[in-house]
Amino acid sequence: MPTDLKSASLLEISQELTRFNYELRGLFRCPTCLCDYPINSKEITEEHIIPDSNGGRITTFLCKKCNSLFGHKQTRWLSDWIELSESNTPFHVDPKKQRAQLMASGLKLNGVIKIAEDGAIEFQADKKRSNPIDFEAYWSRPKSSEITIKMQVSVFGNENSLRVGFLTAAYGLWFKNFGYSFVLQSSLNVVRQQILNPETDIMNWNYLIEMPAREIANPCIGLMRFGVDYFPIALIYDQLVILPSPKRPHPSSTSPSKMSKKVIGFAEAIASRYQHRCVGPAVLICDGQEVINPDLIPNATIPPQYSWVDRWD
Ligand SMILES: [Zn+2]
Repeated sequence: MPTDLKSASLLEISQELTRFNYELRGLFRCPTCLCDYPINSKEITEEHIIPDSNGGRITTFLCKKCNSLFGHKQTRWLSDWIELSESNTPFHVDPKKQRAQLMASGLKLNGVIKIAEDGAIEFQADKKRSNPIDFEAYWSRPKSSEITIKMQVSVFGNENSLRVGFLTAAYGLWFKNFGYSFVLQSSLNVVRQQILNPETDIMNWNYLIEMPAREIANPCIGLMRFGVDYFPIALIYDQLVILPSPKRPHPSSTSPSKMSKKVIGFAEAIASRYQHRCVGPAVLICDGQEVINPDLIPNATIPPQYSWVDRWD
């Protein structure tokens, strides 16, 4: 993002924050750690909500600390996952990423794994990344009959980070669309804790539901009913991410029989009303149930805008 566009966006975000509390003027509040920074601070960085390969360039702002703590890592697992799923092979489409190590007669060569046109798996040694002595020795000696190739598909070794990657993307999408009205809810503390600690199981319930088929072209947000309760959700690639509502931390069950199949997608339903960005304070109510209700409303400098979504049968 060019610098002038970045400062214009940050000014807009900061003006929204001021609507919740006048004392917060000129500040940017990081959506994940909730720390405040002056809007011209170098500590504010742009981060991709959804990796490039899917859904285009959807970005948000984060503080540098959060970005380096989880931003790059989770985005990487998520984009790795998307790439692997799309290619339908356990290998990366880009062979440069699928690193492997070959071991034979006590020598070690580093390289990459490739799939040849006839479907054969090929190891391609990389001279620059291998020990030069081993590399030379391997090619000059008679070939060993026993060769071991070791490789690690990083994304499978990081399942927890991948799960949290989807959660982070869902949280980011909601922030992108509903701004601080969404973020300034204490009901989301558990989500923020989970995002900031991807290795630990903090949200110990099933917030990810795999979709049977890819039913959506673009990542989107919406509402979904589980039993009698409504929850904010996001559809990202082949996963449905369920977020807490102010009323309940999570659905009592996510078993398919208890799930309403109906999703209110905000893409058509209310995106036009907000022009893809809701400027708060805003309270969102679906069929009489609060789905968004920011905690800071008592200090707000302007009255909250109530939005009702009454589209359920
Ligand atoms: Zn932060």
